[in-house]
Amino acid sequence: MDRDALVEHLKFAKELGVSGVSTDPSWRARTDVPNGSVRLQADAGGPAEAGHYLPMADSLTAVDALAAIRADIGDCTRCKLHTLGRKQIVFGAGNPEADLMFVGEAPGADEDEQGIPFIGRAGQLLTKIIEAIDLKREDVYIANVIKCRPPQNRNPEPDEVETCEPFLFQQIDSIKPKVIVALGKFGAQTLLRTLEPISKIRGRVFEYRGSKLIPTFHPAYLLRNPSSKREVWEDMKLVRKLLAES
Ligand code: URA
Repeated sequence: MDRDALVEHLKFAKELGVSGVSTDPSWRARTDVPNGSVRLQADAGGPAEAGHYLPMADSLTAVDALAAIRADIGDCTRCKLHTLGRKQIVFGAGNPEADLMFVGEAPGADEDEQGIPFIGRAGQLLTKIIEAIDLKREDVYIANVIKCRPPQNRNPEPDEVETCEPFLFQQIDSIKPKVIVALGKFGAQTLLRTLEPISKIRGRVFEYRGSKLIPTFHPAYLLRNPSSKREVWEDMKLVRKLLAES
């Protein structure tokens, strides 16, 4: 469905009496987002808070909701990263109805080249981690806190995160995974709004937007520190247990 068709669809849903969503920015923090609802930021030039809300449609599938979010991002110029050499937006990949979602930091060079998250060396290790709990990459959904590659793979800056993270929240609210694995210090600290070191928070279970969130080490860190794979394996066993329970 293209963006115009989707906007029409959502307007149609409103005509039918499907309730709308709040224009209050605090809605971003909601955990009780109903199935299929989505907040769009159709104002492509403005910051996150300037984005307007379109009516939600309970009938919207996760596939349609993700397509709407992707269309809303467009060829994004909301933050400075579009002027700093990124080739393309790396939106996310995988099963829109996944029970398990992985959230990394930002695309690297390989991801920027191909438009797919986690396909470089760290991504290959992530694939093995997923397979270690008897799932396939296609079973899960993978996204990043920010959608554009920062120059020289520097850390994302606060204004970039603030502008881009609402799209991740929308992805989470559309997919409604049972479990989210936050990969690495940056992803975990950003999602949980904490400065606690990843070594302290990894392996713990946090309630997050209606999902269980478990921080673990980033696969890129594991490439440099292979001995930490043991902790990640413990974390993934916990993920498997939570998935089986729910
Ligand atoms: N590291 C990340 O955090 N995300 C990617 O997509 C690739 C590497």
